[in-house]
Amino acid sequence: AKERGRDCYYFFTEELNTKALKLLHIEQELRHALQMDEFSLVYQPQVCLKTGSISSIEALIRWNHPERGLVAPDEFISIAEETGLIVQIGEWVLKNACMQTQMLQQLTGQSIKVAVNLSSRQFSDPNLEQVIADVIEETDLNPKYLEIEVTESMLMNNIDKVIEQLNRIKSTGSTITIDDFGSGYSSLSYLKRLPVDILKVDREFVRDIPEDLNDMEITSAIIAIAHKLNLKVIAEGVENIDQRDFLVINKCDYAQGYYFSKPLTFEDLYRFFTAEQLK
Ligand code: C2E
Ligand code: CA
Ligand code: CA
Ligand code: CA
Repeated sequence: AKERGRDCYYFFTEELNTKALKLLHIEQELRHALQMDEFSLVYQPQVCLKTGSISSIEALIRWNHPERGLVAPDEFISIAEETGLIVQIGEWVLKNACMQTQMLQQLTGQSIKVAVNLSSRQFSDPNLEQVIADVIEETDLNPKYLEIEVTESMLMNNIDKVIEQLNRIKSTGSTITIDDFGSGYSSLSYLKRLPVDILKVDREFVRDIPEDLNDMEITSAIIAIAHKLNLKVIAEGVENIDQRDFLVINKCDYAQGYYFSKPLTFEDLYRFFTAEQLK
């Protein structure tokens, strides 16, 4: 293998070679991580702006690397996608998110929803509907409490195919959120045809509220359009009270961000819920 590696040197630039080796190394590490159970989930509360209570939680993956410590998803999700490992990792996420949410519902007696991120590779998997259905069956979570987050960019494909894929997901009884809404370029006529339930305003538009007037116009317009189309709206990346107030005034339905809570471990989430109930 070393010999071949040396030959390859003449065909690839050194940079590419290093990149390929690094990719291969991380791929092996990710496989190992799946076997050794090095992944975990944290959950970020999503708050209903009308009542102030937690309506749902978003599951976010973490990798507890034996040497590097906690690795953020931005550092490995794209590699998992490139290598195809995201299919297995995604299944793991789905199963564990549903399992823990079902448990949280039992413990708190509250009907909490869970939002799970899907990668584009999973979205185009013809077996996806079955995977979701199996997880629902296995974990005994009522599918109406499962929300699937797909990014706007994933939907910018053949519209008829996208609609078919979304309908297949919805046939399991779960609902669909368009994540990072506004960051892509999907047209509004497109949106009207998509069988989705919630729009999530991209963090980028929320970040500079209340300084950036354009962002405020865009955010309030997205909320208005969503409501015209009978969709709910959630804003992400809400970090301060001005942003929250702006969203409340503009009738945004839900919000999520450090202002309310950072992503929490299951244990801390449970404590958060019990404290909430005591208030
Ligand atoms: P995302 O789906 O847009 O998730 C929201 C990200 O924003 C999370 O980063 C979250 O920790 C962060 N965040 C939450 N509140 C705030 C805030 O107030 N301000 C700021 N600046 N950031 C905030 P995280 O957990 O590092 O995840 C990054 C991305 O990785 C996610 O973006 C998502 O695209 C992807 N990801 C995470 N978990 C999964 C997963 O299980 N499967 C897949 N396919 N992708 C995942
Ligand atoms: Ca998301
Ligand atoms: Ca997002
Ligand atoms: Ca994002």
